[in-house]
Amino acid sequence: MTTNPLLQASTLPYQLPDFQQIQAQHYLPALDQGLTEARQAYQQVALLTDEPSFQTVILPLERPSDILPRVTNIFFNQVWSDGTPELLAIEGEFTEKLTQLENELYLNPEIFAKVEKLYQQRQSLGLIPEEIRLIEKYQQRFSLAGAGLNQQQRAQLADLNLAIAQAQTAYGQQVTQDLNRAAVLIEDEEELAGLPDSYREAAAAAAREAGQQQGWLLTFELFTQQTALSYLENREVRQRIYQASVERGEETWAMAAQIAALRAQKAALLGFESFAALAVADRTAQQPAAVEELFAQTVAPAMANADREADRIAQLAAADGIEKLEPWDWAYYSEKIKAKDYAVDLEALEPYFELNRVLEDGVFYAAQKVYGLSFKERPDLVGYHPQVRTWEVFDQEGQGLGLFLGDFFTRPTKRGGAWMNNLVDQSLLEGTQAVVVNNLNIPAPAQGKPALVTFDEVKTLFHEFGHALHGLLTTSVYRSLSGTNVERDIVEYPSQVNEMWMLHPEILPHYALHHQTGQPVPQQLIEAVLRADQWGQGQGTVEYLRAAALDWAWHCLPASLDAQPVADPRAFEKQALSQRGLWHELVESRYRTSYLNHSFAGGYEAGYYSYLWAEVFDADTVAWYEQAEGSLREKGEAFHRQILEIGGTKPIPQAFEALTGRPADIRPLLERRGLA
Ligand SMILES: [Zn+2]
Repeated sequence: MTTNPLLQASTLPYQLPDFQQIQAQHYLPALDQGLTEARQAYQQVALLTDEPSFQTVILPLERPSDILPRVTNIFFNQVWSDGTPELLAIEGEFTEKLTQLENELYLNPEIFAKVEKLYQQRQSLGLIPEEIRLIEKYQQRFSLAGAGLNQQQRAQLADLNLAIAQAQTAYGQQVTQDLNRAAVLIEDEEELAGLPDSYREAAAAAAREAGQQQGWLLTFELFTQQTALSYLENREVRQRIYQASVERGEETWAMAAQIAALRAQKAALLGFESFAALAVADRTAQQPAAVEELFAQTVAPAMANADREADRIAQLAAADGIEKLEPWDWAYYSEKIKAKDYAVDLEALEPYFELNRVLEDGVFYAAQKVYGLSFKERPDLVGYHPQVRTWEVFDQEGQGLGLFLGDFFTRPTKRGGAWMNNLVDQSLLEGTQAVVVNNLNIPAPAQGKPALVTFDEVKTLFHEFGHALHGLLTTSVYRSLSGTNVERDIVEYPSQVNEMWMLHPEILPHYALHHQTGQPVPQQLIEAVLRADQWGQGQGTVEYLRAAALDWAWHCLPASLDAQPVADPRAFEKQALSQRGLWHELVESRYRTSYLNHSFAGGYEAGYYSYLWAEVFDADTVAWYEQAEGSLREKGEAFHRQILEIGGTKPIPQAFEALTGRPADIRPLLERRGLA
């Protein structure tokens, strides 16, 4: 038998996984070995008879096995980015085994008693602040996981956790299937009128890849508003695409209701009034009321804003003979208004956004200007798929910081959306530096064509790279407090801040050059984009708030030990939106219950509000960058040291105050979104 490459740390630079050696059959055996090691480590803690100490209790919990986090990081990145049938087939078993281990740990009363004892004594143990914080985090994790419950309740909870994990995996896989199935094949070229050439070519290539001799396959993105809807002149085609998008998914409705019911049962066992209350207990919001307050401050002005936009759009559509505006007309006429009222021409912008240039002369360049970083592509370091590219990242002294992998193109084996993953977590204790990946879903260009990206995709590139910076610039001792391991509802903050560089006057002219002529993007195009920034905020905020309200409503169901799935999930969705004051005939949710991966595939359950929550900090940080004294580089340095570097070792709201000298204020956000 050949050796399993997942069992040892890779000898490649920065412990980059040796993807050429890793095969699907390596994952489960490596996982099993990691689980065995972890169980032994936990067992020793449980059986410990000496007075508990940080070294004998917390350290083994933090680092029970080196194999386990390695195989987990690599596996989940792979299954999300390139989930071949072989991998999807083992995802359920993989997740179940991990959930079982978590159950054993966090429902273990002997270990909890020791953690609790250390928690009581934490200030007098001579520990550094990061270690005190680590104890606090473990104490919180154990108590919120139910370690303090009686034996029968703990057994019930373990079963529930397993059922939830299984249901989440099934939901996530089904959403990807539904997404691929929803793609619309266009056979008559005339129906593509209005669609830019680059888009057309990508659609033709997608059709060939799907085995179609002819035609154009418009593949879908995860969210409701498909990009093609902004361009297509043919109203019937728009309707076809829009309906395919919002009506995708059949089984996932009931799956979502089932997951919400299981979570309501879990919340009841743990003594919370709802799953939402349980979920926010260890986040910066802390109480559901804080999230309710955020909705209260934003819903009504956002709806009023969307109505004003609807009036303007209806006016323009009427000139085209459209008597009754429909949701599939919105994006198309919205773009027309940008062009007409603000002289914005997104299609004219596209030749100036070539992927590689945006990346190296925009995203990386901003990181150089602001944080003093530099980047070197390392084609010798191979990723997990031929489309993946690798760069080495250096700090201002030229010291290596880690690796950045970019996986930008869409493919049928990739989940929809965009995200960042760690392949190797930074930890001073373990002597590791970060290896991070950004995944996007940009349609791959046709053979020999440049990869031109849309305005929104440029924004996503900057956003995801903000997460990457958070992962790369951290200097924590302990992995579970490093990089993006912060409270769930604040993790979007650094990534949102990084979006500010996209249109920054010192950054934009550096990368927005015509891909053929090298000419800079005409100033009037950019000024138009900046002027038009407030246009569409009504629709954008409402579609977001609707998804956030749906996620929230599904998790505000009253906790009950025998909570049953909502009988009619579609009716529940409509009612939840109406009750929140978010029912709108023309603006659909960014994601509907049937494809709300954030909530039901796991990760952002009762947490989709986090984007707006974090944006309060983001908008106020942008205001700080504009107002504070000093050069860009000096302010970047302060943001680096106060926010990015600390990872989860301090609460972010407190770090924000240290940076700006005041608590975060919601006003810059309200102004930005036209809600003031
Ligand atoms: Zn993000």
